[in-house]
Amino acid sequence: MLELRGVNVFYGAVQALREVSLRVDEGEIVTLIGANGAGKSTTLMAISGIVPPRRGEILFEGRPIHGLAPDRIVRLGLCQVPEGRRIFPELTVAENLDMGAFLRRDRQGIERDREELYELFPILHQRRHQPGGNLSGGEQQMLAISRALMARPRLIMLDEPSMGLAPIIVKGIFEEIRKLRDAGNTILLVEQNARAALRIADRGYVIETGQMVLEGTSEELLNNNDVQRAYLGKDYKSISD
Ligand code: ATP
Repeated sequence: MLELRGVNVFYGAVQALREVSLRVDEGEIVTLIGANGAGKSTTLMAISGIVPPRRGEILFEGRPIHGLAPDRIVRLGLCQVPEGRRIFPELTVAENLDMGAFLRRDRQGIERDREELYELFPILHQRRHQPGGNLSGGEQQMLAISRALMARPRLIMLDEPSMGLAPIIVKGIFEEIRKLRDAGNTILLVEQNARAALRIADRGYVIETGQMVLEGTSEELLNNNDVQRAYLGKDYKSISD
């Protein structure tokens, strides 16, 4: 469904991605794990058209999308949930969801999707008339994900949904993400929390200083000595060390 081939991204003279290649098939959760500053968010921003690649190709359902404007990419069905749960704190939960459907005109479909999300996340239904800013961190993350789903994306990209959340809340969020995949969604999940991400993902990639260093099924990565030492243990050391 999505393929990156030899993507290079620069911020001015600084190269943030080097020959990055990855693939996401329909119905999968694919996770991209790596440390702070490894290039995870940049990968998502390159796909979304926010920082276009200087070299390389990005194909979505067989069609090149590198060079398209971000709004065109969203219209094709690629939606990103940014790091840090950027919901609209002053708007109600229901209004936040409506913002996700901004590009849609099918009123009945919008209502149906909103009801489905309320069924999936009953807390959002209970709080639908309250300002988004009143929700807890975990609830805001669910709202941010739900808002993106209101756009009916073909593929959803999540940037560190576990960030700043307590472990017990992270567990709940990851269970919900797994449910979304089981309901037929395709998900690219960027995470520093490698263990939680690999537990729900089908496949994964490891990125270090802008380069892919490993890829495999989640089971292969969870059992890989280098991954265990670098990302699943207590002491951090990069794989290339
Ligand atoms: P984090 O988990 O901290 O968000 P990340 O893996 O998502 O890390 P990126 O945010 O993609 O990493 O950053 C990759 C590299 O690009 C880093 O070295 C970072 O300092 C650099 N970088 C990111 N944004 C910019 C920018 N706007 N201008 C210059 N350099 C940037």
